[in-house]
This record gives sequence, C-alpha cells and structure tokens, in this order.
Amino acid sequence: LGTTMNLANKVLIALALGIGAGIVINLTGANAVPWVDTYLVNGVFLVAGKLFFNALQMLVVPLVLFSLIPGIVGIGDIRLLGKVGTKSFALYVATTAIAITLGITLASALGIGQGMEIPAGDDFAGKEAARNFVEVIIGIVPKNLISAMANGEMLAIIFFAIFFGIALLIKLEQSRELVNLIEQLNRIIMQMVEMVMWFAPYAVFCLVAKAVADLGLDIILKLGGYFTTVMLALIVHAFVTQMLIMKAFTGLSIKTFLSKIRAVQIFAFSTSSSGATIPVTLRTMQERFGIDRAVSSFTVPFGATINMDGTAIMQGVATVFVANLYGIELTLGGYVTIVVTAVLASIGTAAVPAVGLVMLTMVFKQVGLPIEAIGIILGIDRIVDMTRTAVNVTGDAVVTTIVAKSEGKMDIDTFNDPNAGEVHE
Ligand code: ASP
Repeated sequence: LGTTMNLANKVLIALALGIGAGIVINLTGANAVPWVDTYLVNGVFLVAGKLFFNALQMLVVPLVLFSLIPGIVGIGDIRLLGKVGTKSFALYVATTAIAITLGITLASALGIGQGMEIPAGDDFAGKEAARNFVEVIIGIVPKNLISAMANGEMLAIIFFAIFFGIALLIKLEQSRELVNLIEQLNRIIMQMVEMVMWFAPYAVFCLVAKAVADLGLDIILKLGGYFTTVMLALIVHAFVTQMLIMKAFTGLSIKTFLSKIRAVQIFAFSTSSSGATIPVTLRTMQERFGIDRAVSSFTVPFGATINMDGTAIMQGVATVFVANLYGIELTLGGYVTIVVTAVLASIGTAAVPAVGLVMLTMVFKQVGLPIEAIGIILGIDRIVDMTRTAVNVTGDAVVTTIVAKSEGKMDIDTFNDPNAGEVHE
C-alpha cells in the first residue's frame, strides 16, 4: 500500500481483501484445518480485530464527555441546544419509521418466506435483553455516573455532560481554566482517535476476514430470499432514501457526502457497532464535514444510541418473512404495530453488535409471532448486522448534517474540500 494513498482507500482495499480471504477460508474448508482455525481465524484475526475494537470503545466515553462539554459552553445558549435536541430527535424517529416501512413494503412485495420449508434453526429462547421505553427514559438520569460510564450508557453520559456544561456556563467567569483544560483533553483524545485509525486497514482486514470465514455460505443460499431482501432494502435506504432526504434538506452534494462518509461506513461494517464507531463518526463530522462541535458532539452519540435505520429495516423484513413462513396473516393494524414497536425498539437498542436481533423479540411479541423463529435467521445475522450498522451510522451522519446546516453550524467550504480532515499517517 503506497504512502500516497489516503486512508479511506486503503481501508476499502482492506475490506475487499478481507472479504476475499474470508470466502477462500470458508470455501476451501480451511477452517477445518487446525492451524488455520487456531492461529489465523481465532488467533491473529480475532486478536487484532478485538484490540482495535477495544481501542475505539476505550475512547468513546472520554471523547463524548470532553467534546460535548465545551460544545455546550460554545453554544452558550440553552435554547439552541433545545432546538438541536428537538430537531434531531424528530428526524431520527421519522427516518427510522421510513426505514422500517421500506423494509416491510419490499418484503411484502417480494413475498419472501411464502411456501418455504422451515429449516430447523438454532434455539433462540430466553434472550430477554430488550429494554422497554419506560426503562430507557428512566435510564437517562444515571444514579451512578461511574457505572454509567463503565457500561457505556450513552444517554446517561450525554445527560451528565449537558448538565455539567450548563452549570459550567453559569459559573463561566470562575471556570475559564477548566474550560481550557477540557479543550486540551479533547484535542488529545482526538489525536488518539487519529492514531487508532492508522491501524484501520489491518484491523478491518482481520475483522472482516474472520466474520466471513465464520459464516456458513450455504446458509446464505438457504435463506436467500430473506438475505437478499434485507440487503437490498439496506442498500436502497443508505444510497437512495437517506441521500434524497439529505439533499432535500441541505442541498449539499450527494457525491461528496458519500465519498466522505465511506470510511465511517466501513468502520461500522467491520466492527458491527455504532457505539464503537462514534469516535470515527464524530471526527468525520467535525474535521471532514466542517460541522460545529456544538451540534455534532451531541447528535452523533445521541444518534448512535437512538437512531437505527438499518436495524429497523431488518426488523421489518424479518417480521414479514417469519409471518409468511408460518402462514400468519398480518393486518394493517399489525403493520402499524410493527412500525411503532420497531421505532421504539431502535431507541432502546444498544449500539453494539447483534442487539438488533434481541430487540426483534420485542417486535415478535407485539404481533404474536413465535420468538423461536428468530433462530432461523440467527445463522446469517452477523453479516446482516455488519451491513445494518453501516446504514445506522449513515443515518446519524445525515441527521447531523441536516441539523447543523439548518442551524448555520456547518462550514460548507470544509465540506466541499475533498482533502479536509484527511487522516495523515
Ligand atoms: N449492531 C447494531 C449497531 O451497533 C445494532 C444492531 O444489532 O442492529 O448499530
């Protein structure tokens, strides 16, 4: 890899090589060769991938805190904060509802799962991690800050940072040094994010190669209808629906948006976690898109937590698929229930790998589908999870851009400059 190539392209190549290596390992049955399995797939790939994932996660909490607190002080106006909060919340909910409607419509139109033999899937019993809406609201105010930080409870951390920022604003005269100190800490953490990104090409290769190698390619064929429909809906949403929404609200170039967001999408795809991707999303919004910290340091972690367009799409498609499999008629009321439950579920879904599947139990329960049926799609969920996470973070970026542009908190020249905020190794 030449030194002149930018990071986004290197990461893209690593992604392609990772998929290739994974397929080769899977198809040649090299997985069954003990040393390939022990030293490569569950050795080097696993360790390198996890180290990278951990490093990103390690930076999330300090980054959100040190970026949001001076962000609030920078806004200096609580009303603007209220506006940013209301707008982003409304857009996050609306785009998620659009996403799930797309998923349901496509799945119904294609009639996936009709007249299919049900493959005996793994059991999916006893997974009840779904948090209901009331619990999510209560969790916004942490009773213990340290434990909220230790568990990466984003809404609680955001709440604390805003509260702290407001108090700091009130005491600003006596606290200039503290504000400067937090600013400096923020710069250092940002530098750390950049340094972690230097390793992205290698880590992405390892993460993706392992995920694909572990995947049963034959199971994709068996669940072909479901798999193709989810993937199609995810791609349409990320590249058409979300881009049209972005364009309609901001008038900005779709091409520029897509080229700059690509690295974020690949990070999300390889880590399967919107949460672990926060540092990269935040950095991209600020340095590459020219979006003011005052907006992005709030909307990005907020979106990673409550906004899951990709997850909602999967839930819509999975529900129609399973209903068809079991020959259960869904009424109009049933569809509305799916949309509402999936939107609420997406708010309660933690931004970590595979939770979307657990949240699906909530939707299934609401419309009376058998929970065990989730076992059927379990086998291919990893690859669907990777893709839907990329769609989730794209949605966060779209809403962040719309809100920032509408509040005049975006530097359009930075956005239009192809080299702005490029990571230099
Ligand atoms: N992995 C997804 C995310 O972090 C959540 C999900 O499982 O759908 O955005």
